[in-house]
Amino acid sequence: MVRYVYDFTQGGRDLAGLLGGKGANLAEMTRLGLPVPPGFVLTTEACRAFLATGGEPAGLWREVSDHLAALEAAAGRRLGQPDDPLLVSVRSGARFSMPGMMETILDIGLNDDSVLGLAKVSGSERFAWDSYRRLLQMFGSTVMGVDAALFEGELALLKDVRGIPDDVHLGAADLARLVEIYKNLIHDETGDWFPQCPAEQLRRAVLAVFASWNGQRARLYRRREHIPDDLGTAVTVQRMVFGNLGPDSGSGVAFTRDPATGRPGPYGDYLADAQGEDVVAGVRNTVPLTELERLDPGSYALLREHLRTLERHYRDLCDIEFTIERGTLWILQTRVGKRTAEAAFAIAAQLADERVITPDEGLARVSGEELARLMFPRFDASATGAPLAHGVPASPGAAVGAAVFDSAEAVRRAAAGERVVLVRQETTPDDLPGMIAAQAVLTSRGGKTSHAAVVARGMGKVCVCGAEELSVDVRARRFTTPDGTVVEEGTVLSVDGSAGAVYPGSVPLVDSAVMRFLESGDTDRFLENGDTDERAVGVVDAVARALARADAVRRLEVRANADTPEDAARARRFGAQGIGLCRTEHMFLGERRQLVEDMILASSDTERERALAALLPLQRQDFTAILKAMDGLPVTIRLLDPPLHEFLPDRTDLAVRTAAAEARGDLPDPHDAELLAAVNRMHEENPMLGLRGVRLGLLVPGLVAMQVRAIGEAVVERTRAGGTPRAEIMVPLVGDVRELLIVREEVERVLADVSAAAGVPVTCPVGTMIELPRAALTAGRIAEEAQFFSFGTNDLTQTTWGFSRDDVEAEFFSAYLDRGVFPVSPFETLDIDGVGRLVRIAVAEGRATRPDLTIGVCGEHGGDPDSVHFFHTAGLDYVSCSPFRVPVARLEAGRAAL
Ligand code: ADP
Ligand code: MG
Ligand code: MG
Repeated sequence: MVRYVYDFTQGGRDLAGLLGGKGANLAEMTRLGLPVPPGFVLTTEACRAFLATGGEPAGLWREVSDHLAALEAAAGRRLGQPDDPLLVSVRSGARFSMPGMMETILDIGLNDDSVLGLAKVSGSERFAWDSYRRLLQMFGSTVMGVDAALFEGELALLKDVRGIPDDVHLGAADLARLVEIYKNLIHDETGDWFPQCPAEQLRRAVLAVFASWNGQRARLYRRREHIPDDLGTAVTVQRMVFGNLGPDSGSGVAFTRDPATGRPGPYGDYLADAQGEDVVAGVRNTVPLTELERLDPGSYALLREHLRTLERHYRDLCDIEFTIERGTLWILQTRVGKRTAEAAFAIAAQLADERVITPDEGLARVSGEELARLMFPRFDASATGAPLAHGVPASPGAAVGAAVFDSAEAVRRAAAGERVVLVRQETTPDDLPGMIAAQAVLTSRGGKTSHAAVVARGMGKVCVCGAEELSVDVRARRFTTPDGTVVEEGTVLSVDGSAGAVYPGSVPLVDSAVMRFLESGDTDRFLENGDTDERAVGVVDAVARALARADAVRRLEVRANADTPEDAARARRFGAQGIGLCRTEHMFLGERRQLVEDMILASSDTERERALAALLPLQRQDFTAILKAMDGLPVTIRLLDPPLHEFLPDRTDLAVRTAAAEARGDLPDPHDAELLAAVNRMHEENPMLGLRGVRLGLLVPGLVAMQVRAIGEAVVERTRAGGTPRAEIMVPLVGDVRELLIVREEVERVLADVSAAAGVPVTCPVGTMIELPRAALTAGRIAEEAQFFSFGTNDLTQTTWGFSRDDVEAEFFSAYLDRGVFPVSPFETLDIDGVGRLVRIAVAEGRATRPDLTIGVCGEHGGDPDSVHFFHTAGLDYVSCSPFRVPVARLEAGRAAL
């Protein structure tokens, strides 16, 4: 029989798949002896069974009843017992943390009778009625489907009528009145009364939390975070403890280290006389955790001890939710906490120094995406001017955009291509679409642990929160600063999430410290510049150490895609071990276009040879400069790839010009007429499947020879200059070994010529791109003629799926993502099942023919973390990516090897 329910004492962290992160960690803390209110967890399996059938899984309720009975026995009172009620919370919690995206219902067990009992035993009528009205509000909206805004509306109305500014000033009588109003509201809206039976409350709450797995915002969050849709949520049922029982009670959130910078020490927010939800919702402004030391030194000391226990146990940054009930500390949640990129690197380095984790574990704890984030530019401090406001630096980075005041407007403007900053008093889970659409989030309320901060950090989005001096009026769509400046919707703002400042207008950007470090090539040279603060030096040091570790353990080499000497030099500073793709097409543009045009249009061999001869020295210069920048390292030069008509003028323009001339009665320009004829001759309906790549080499006489001669002569020049040129010649778009053979013979003939003429040995390995399914499937044959393979995964993805990558990514890709055909675009992360299978086949069959075959990849995927991990396991020798992704690829190649 399947088991659907686990007591906290029966589970543990290893059961996170079944109990969800929250439930598993509550169980783990219980086992560690931390003060956790008792409870039990309904598994994700129960949720999946419920979602599959829409009904309660058989036997579930019997198990729940048994566990509830045990909870009641331990507490010495029953759920909702009229004179002294046991109350419970019903909490969602999936395998992966989805902060605030699903439902949690507190104070289950209250009804018209037990509210009186609670008032009596707690000695506070106000507290009892406040708890009851919270239950009605949460249950009414979550379980019974009443619009949450209606409850807020009634609350605001009552405060208006009573002339009370703040919730905390509502008395017991007001709250009892509100309870009546809420009960009637629920009845008016649904035709049903709020259930008075505690067991029914519990049951319906549990099923509603299960159902919230498929709520709109939970689905949106999962898509954004690439969390699978079929995991389901666990449900935790836990005895309530109360932080809202007066000044010696309260709730807070604490981190073992600062999640923004990684600095050690307890860190967090506290709110006296409040329940946990008030802290996270950011409805009242919290005080720093250190205040608690003054308010309740005993609880503070215990809290510090528990934080130490947790960090030692989890061997990582932990965050917790805690509640103090009349001087007694309770821990309500813990998890390995989300953190900024900066904190991730800093913490990994610190924990390795403290010998809490090994250097390899330190490497595993940081990611290429985080490194990429640290490479983003910062605001130029000398150009910021006076800030409009200061707030909490909740999620770092620099972002510029137009102020918008609600989620819908953010989404609308972003869809139109505008960059926006979402400004709110505080955010709720309903603001998620707007947060995704925005460049940055700015709130006037809430601390580093508010919803806005936690979600923004998780998404790597810039966030400044708790900018209290701003008065935000979302209805009027503007905010006002203390000096009376009014900022209307659409005004451009610059938001500095690292410093917590907001500036008017668009502040110019400068390189980040990590970028300056990478540009300088090593730590010493970076430090010589000496213009950096301690925090920047700390981050750079942590990054340098992670990269050094990655370089020490990785098997994959990392090369760069570069076709100018400048890019080659930068790539080298960034740690590239060569060029994996040097495209030659850009060398045919600009002023040289005329020569290319002449070559294409040549009406005789002599004309063509003249054009080619003019191109030769130019190409030779290009190659010489690049080989110089990469001296001693391999440079893989790809022969011309795109269809020739790309180098001719646009067909429509020409046709229009010719027709216009005719309409005026003029004779068309003879050059135009000639061009138009050529363009028409070469026009292809599907140029990406047409005359390009190796096919050009076979059809355009002299083209391959010219390019190869330029390469060979560049090698000679560099050799004579005392360099070590390592050019490799790569043939694109081969589908059959015969194509390669024909080209290779020509390559070798030309290189032999060059070598003989110069009296300098010239050897360049000749290889091919694998970018057609047929090439992958016949790789064993192709390897007979190829000395290396390089997967062109962009074209290979295009040709495997039959997607035109120039047309596809707009419309139907978003439908495909929505409908789950793929979780991420196959042009972004390699499609392992399909394209990856071709890669594996080609690797196996290529190496079977030629065991020393060098194999790399040079598509966009070479710099994508998930794809890099695949290429490592597929046994490739190197990945090649754009220079800026080289550090990311180094790091991920290291992590893949762990
Ligand atoms: P989320 O996943 O959105 O953080 P939680 O399940 O953690 O949702 O609950 C929301 C809030 O309710 C938290 O701040 C938590 O502290 C509070 N809470 C949950 N269960 C209890 C409980 N048994 N006693 C007191 N407060 C609780
Ligand atoms: Mg929580
Ligand atoms: Mg290609």
